[in-house]
Amino acid sequence: MPLTVPELAERYETRFANALLKLWDQRRKAINTGRLVAAVSLGADIEAERYLTKAEIPKPVGGEFDPDDLSGLYQDLIQEGANIGLQDWGFQYSFTLNNEAAIKWAESRAADLIMALDNEVRETVRSLIAQAQQGDFTVKQLARQIEAAGVGLTPAQQQSVLNFQRGLTSAIERDLSPKWVKDQWSLSPWSGGKLTSDRVTTLVEQYSGRLRKYRAKNIARTETMTAAMEGKRSLWEQAKQRGLLSEDQERQWMTAGDERTCPLCEPMDGAITDRGTYPNGSDGPPLHPSCRCDESLLFRAENNPRFVYG
Ligand SMILES: [Zn+2]
Repeated sequence: MPLTVPELAERYETRFANALLKLWDQRRKAINTGRLVAAVSLGADIEAERYLTKAEIPKPVGGEFDPDDLSGLYQDLIQEGANIGLQDWGFQYSFTLNNEAAIKWAESRAADLIMALDNEVRETVRSLIAQAQQGDFTVKQLARQIEAAGVGLTPAQQQSVLNFQRGLTSAIERDLSPKWVKDQWSLSPWSGGKLTSDRVTTLVEQYSGRLRKYRAKNIARTETMTAAMEGKRSLWEQAKQRGLLSEDQERQWMTAGDERTCPLCEPMDGAITDRGTYPNGSDGPPLHPSCRCDESLLFRAENNPRFVYG
């Protein structure tokens, strides 16, 4: 059975998510929490800000994280997406995707993603510093919070990590029983009795690790779909340039057609466009994060290229 674009994307999802987790690990190590917190506690805002500039989240070095990992994954996806585009088309025709364009697309997509994630880290850490300065928590707690929630989480996820941490810390202060704590947050039981601040650190770390994984998977799902689809469309574009497909070749939107199809995509099932955009204004799937829609060329009997080219 030939692969579809959503199936191809799914095959790459774990590898892509792992590349993101590796990136975030590298970023977490790069933030000098000690120096940052020291600067904040001295009220040295400008200095603290300096630790958050680009220079402080350095380009990865020596084997730790290779940004080409992401770029390489994007390139593979484009290539394989192009193969699917060829197979959808139905020609037995050998094509090589214009590699220079594919590499350029992959590199700039990877660079944009890394930049967006790095900007997010800076925003998050800034907002944690601001909260500490407003007295929401002590400067001493700040380091732990940056480590737990500073990298790779959305603001909402970050907030839920902080709430969890606050809840556990206050359970220690109120001397609540381990059973109460476990039931309260549906935690798996631990041996060794009392809740200690070390245990809180571990529990918070586990929780934010889970959220980070979940987030990485969500980003990976969208990015792998986007790249695979990009490959498929690049192939079609190339075929147009070579005069093998007409400029107004129709394309058709295909939803996954199951109960998980979202209300945004459902009305698009079977929608047709010739050049440019679909009736909903989009260039084609993916339309939203985690979209599982696909697209194929639509050949009508009167202009079927199989017939024309025999
Ligand atoms: Zn969709």
